[in-house]
Formats: sequence, C-alpha cells, structure tokens
Amino acid sequence: MENKNYKLDTLLIHAGVEPDPTTGAIMTPIYQTSTYVQAAPGQHKGYEYARTQNPTRTVLQNALAAIEKGKHGVCFGSGLAATDAIMKLLGPGDEVISTNDLYGGTYRIFTKMYQPYGLKFHFTGMGDMSNIEGLINENTKMIWIETPTNPLLNIIDIAACADICKKHNILLVVDNTFASPYLQNPLTLGADIVVHSATKYLGGHSDVVHGAVIVNDDSLEERLRFIQNASGAVPGPHDCWLVLRGIKTLHVRMQRHCENGAKIAHYLRSHPKVERVYWIGFEDHPNHDIAKKQMRGFGGMISFVLKGDNMNDAMKVLSSTKLFSLAESLGGVESLIGHPASMTHGSIPREERIKNGLADTLIRLSVGIEDVDDLIEDLKQAIG
Ligand SMILES: *Cc1c(COP(=O)(O)O)cnc(C)c1O
Repeated sequence: MENKNYKLDTLLIHAGVEPDPTTGAIMTPIYQTSTYVQAAPGQHKGYEYARTQNPTRTVLQNALAAIEKGKHGVCFGSGLAATDAIMKLLGPGDEVISTNDLYGGTYRIFTKMYQPYGLKFHFTGMGDMSNIEGLINENTKMIWIETPTNPLLNIIDIAACADICKKHNILLVVDNTFASPYLQNPLTLGADIVVHSATKYLGGHSDVVHGAVIVNDDSLEERLRFIQNASGAVPGPHDCWLVLRGIKTLHVRMQRHCENGAKIAHYLRSHPKVERVYWIGFEDHPNHDIAKKQMRGFGGMISFVLKGDNMNDAMKVLSSTKLFSLAESLGGVESLIGHPASMTHGSIPREERIKNGLADTLIRLSVGIEDVDDLIEDLKQAIG
C-alpha cells in the first residue's frame, strides 16, 4: 500500500501489506524457507538467501517504517539485537551519551560489551539539557535516549535533544519501546534512529521476541542492512508474522492501555498505603508538559512505592496479585507486575540504581487491557 496520507489507524492494518502475488492470500504468508531457487546463476526474483532477505520480513519492515513515519525498517531477532546492530555503527574511541535510568539490558550491552571494545559511555539525567551539552566533545557520536524511561517514567524532550544533536553533528537514537508508534513518533521530532523491542507493545501478546530499527536516511539504512546481513541477528519469518499480526491491533490495544493506566494511576495515588506513584499523565509529573507535547497519550506503564519503604511489604504485594502476573516484560494484553531492582534492572549495580532514584522497593505495573475494575480489585486485595 503506497499512499502515505492514510491516518495511523489505517496504516497499522494496511501499510506494507499486499495480497500474496501467487495466491491472492489476504494475509502475508510465513515464508518458511532458507533459500530461493534461481533460474540461472544470478537470475532470481529479488530473494537469494533468507538471512539476507525474506518476504515476510520485507512486509513487516515496510509496515514498521510506515507506522513510525520513517523510510526504512530493519528487523532483528530481539530488541537487544537491534541495539547491538546500532552500536556497530560506531568504533573504538567513539563516545555515547545516554540516560541514567536506561533499560537494564541496554545498560549491560553498553558497559559490558561495547566498553571493552573501546567505546566510551556517559550516563546522565536528561531532565535538564545542560547536562548533555557539558559531556559533548569531538568524539561524541551518538546520544541514546529512552522516553518515557523504564521504570521511573521520566520524560526527555526529544525535539530539544535533536536540536543539540544537529548542532554537533551527532546521531540521536530513541528507544521508542515504551511509547510505541501509536503514542509517539521520534523521527518526526528530529531523531535519526528509532529502535523498538517489538517483544512489547508492537507484538502485544507476549508470544514473540523481536526487534526493529527505523530510519529515514538512506546511507544509515544501507549500513544497518549490511550489519543485519553480515552479523546475521535476523528474526525468523514466523516471528515477523506474529509482529505483523500484533501491529494490526496496536491502536485499539493502546487506547485501552491508556484508559486502564489512567484509572489505576489515580486509584493508586488515592490509596492510603501508597507513598508515590510514577505515571506521566499526572499534571504534577515534572515533565508532564513535554509528555503532552510529544506524545498522544500516557500509556499503561506505572511504578509505585509503598509508605514506609519496607521490603517485606513490597514483596507481599508482588506475590499476592492474582490477575497481575509476576513476570519480566511489558506491553502485552495481560497485566504484569514486576520488581525492577531484582528483575529487569538487576544488571545495574545497586549503588547506581539507588543514586538514580530506583528504590529497592519500587513496584512496576504493565497495565493490560482486562476490565479495569477487576484489575483495581486485584491491587486492592494485594496491597491490603
Ligand atoms: C525489553 C526492552 C528492550 C530489549 O528488548 P528485547 O526484545 O527483550 O531484546 C530494550 N528496550 C526497552 C525499553 C525494553 O523494554
């Protein structure tokens, strides 16, 4: 489907998807093949070997590019494989500036894998842009942000970061996993590269691990496509198909995630045993105005701490919910509850975590799309 003037809700269902040319199948087939027959050497239909190209993956890549308002999509076997591919754009001596409450796995690949290869990373709070300017030098090649951040739901001003990057000729990468393309399109705000863990909202059903990179620039695409093929961290066709299926309902799911999230955030804030609720929709959230400016809704991610900051109380809540399942990950139709300090952010040293405001007792919710009254009832009995 070529027409880029369609609205997002239409693009989510149709972008990139054409009836299968051989049979007319309305849904993109899963091309479960490793290679393609050639009529004569070099005479083929655009597909030679499935690490390099696969028709199911091609459709998904085009769909992702369209819904992120970009030109090119490049898919990978996981969100971290996508991150890994982006880091391979850099070399020894290059410096990266990133946020101090980054997703744990991203922090780990930066510090444990790429630092030993000679890249240098700076982590700073990005509520204040002057923190970034002070860290820039001639080796700075990339600014890597996540907004909203995980799990403290801080908001970073993407357009302001893009201005700084343009001024210094630095690449701006935005991990858009938490917002999803339904709530935010970083490329339209000046970012150069968008990365997704499609495992989360894009897939949406907790049944696939997948990653994607979306860019506008042709030469960036060419380099990423080379890395995709040369390093080979490609997704299988069945996983591509699951993500394609997931994004067809992204808008209806996200609407409900947002509605349920708002109701639960307000419920928790009014609970006498809850000390603090982190949710970007509160008007007194420190960067609520920026969230309103760059996002179309506030999503279903909420974190909170109980009064008294007692570990046993937090553990009791984490193990007594019945609808909220205790599990890592987020963004699926079912509600999850998690303990970032021991789960998603366990790979960040405790000292670093505490310094950045991630308490041992912080509880994180990925609010699903169940009936919100049932979800609130579940939290009520668990918090007591
Ligand atoms: C899960 C996640 C990742 C990593 O993605 P995988 O698909 O698990 O490899 C990266 N960034 C964020 C914000 C995530 O939540």
